Amino acid sequence: MSFTKIILKPQKEESLLRFHPWVFSGAIQKIVGTPQEGDCVEVYTCKNEFCAMGHYQIGSIAVRVFSFEQITPTYEFWRDRIAEAYQVRIALGLAENEHNNTYRLVHGEGDSLPGLIIDVYGETAVLQAHSVGMHYLREDLAKAVVEVMNGAVKNVFYKSESTLPFKANVNAQDGYLIGECDNECIAKENGLLFHVDWLRGQKTGFFVDQRENRSLLEHYAKGRSVLNMFCYTGGFSFYAMRGGAKLVHSVDSSAKAIELTNQNVELNFPNDPRHKAFATDAFKFLDDVKNDEYDLIILDPPAFAKHRDVLRNALQGYKKLNARAFEKIKHGGILFTFSCSQAVNKEQFRLAVFSAAAMSGRNVRILHQLTQPADHPINIYHPEGEYLKGLVLYVE
Ligand code: SAH
Repeated sequence: MSFTKIILKPQKEESLLRFHPWVFSGAIQKIVGTPQEGDCVEVYTCKNEFCAMGHYQIGSIAVRVFSFEQITPTYEFWRDRIAEAYQVRIALGLAENEHNNTYRLVHGEGDSLPGLIIDVYGETAVLQAHSVGMHYLREDLAKAVVEVMNGAVKNVFYKSESTLPFKANVNAQDGYLIGECDNECIAKENGLLFHVDWLRGQKTGFFVDQRENRSLLEHYAKGRSVLNMFCYTGGFSFYAMRGGAKLVHSVDSSAKAIELTNQNVELNFPNDPRHKAFATDAFKFLDDVKNDEYDLIILDPPAFAKHRDVLRNALQGYKKLNARAFEKIKHGGILFTFSCSQAVNKEQFRLAVFSAAAMSGRNVRILHQLTQPADHPINIYHPEGEYLKGLVLYVE
């Protein structure tokens, strides 16, 4: 098999020699041939030494590297990568666990599969391509998941309409690639049940990345009045209820999310009067909260910064939101505060929260520093893979 050759400018191979899996368009001296977006290409130094193989893309990241060796990317190659990822999830105790059938099987660069996300919900895997290269491989990838999981997954749903590059002219219709889940899907996380709507829901249907942080919250919930802001389908709320919260209020601006939250609470705690959900804007809701009404608040907003150029505004957004929580939370209250913006790093987020705390003048202790769970691994050579940050604070 022969592939288009991408020749780098002098010294631009340095990051590849340190196994960083991206080639930026500015590093390219010459392209020998005319690759189409999604094609496999080979990357060479200006001295014609082989560096890496990857999928070609139009845009600032020109190549997403999947191998630093010269290989033939056959079905078996992709299957073995997925098999390795599955072994990791078994080692983590997430796969093949009767209390939990929800986890991320493949996390892009973190699993050496740039541009690919696969989340598992019981017998259904939801496959999401973030690159055209992975889009073209979708049939093989779906087949490989079913083969690797040896019967544990029977259906594969493809959901990439909104994640593929906007200008890529591909027909990425969402739908089943293998099987079909005709019943409504109810998945399980740490023994709690929830509906997943991968067709209409956000991401692949659920925020799988908050599993461990929700578990931690459960331990703090006993006897507390909990406010779960940006609740989506209510993940933190039902953990708080299992943890013995006195009351739980869930807030999200999406009416559909609130409907799902109510259904999920009903699924786990039928007719439980402790829970109430509100479809409204978070900032507006906080304005009307009385001081001391809540002693456990969760702030898990959407990514305020999707790009570095809006970083300043994003940091202001985190500061404003957290300031509101510091102003309102009861003495001895606990605040779980998060940022899932990849463009905001740990220090910047902490500084925004610090500024918000200082505005309130209250004494604040950092109890925990949270991050993404182990089924969202970070490739050590790709620090950009770290995106979820959280702080658990005790507010005097
Ligand atoms: N905590 C959730 C995930 C949150 S995702 C979980 O554990 O599953 C962010 C959520 O914020 C989305 O559901 C989105 O609908 C909601 N959202 C976005 N802007 C909002 C706003 N201004 N006020 C309230 N909710 C908002």
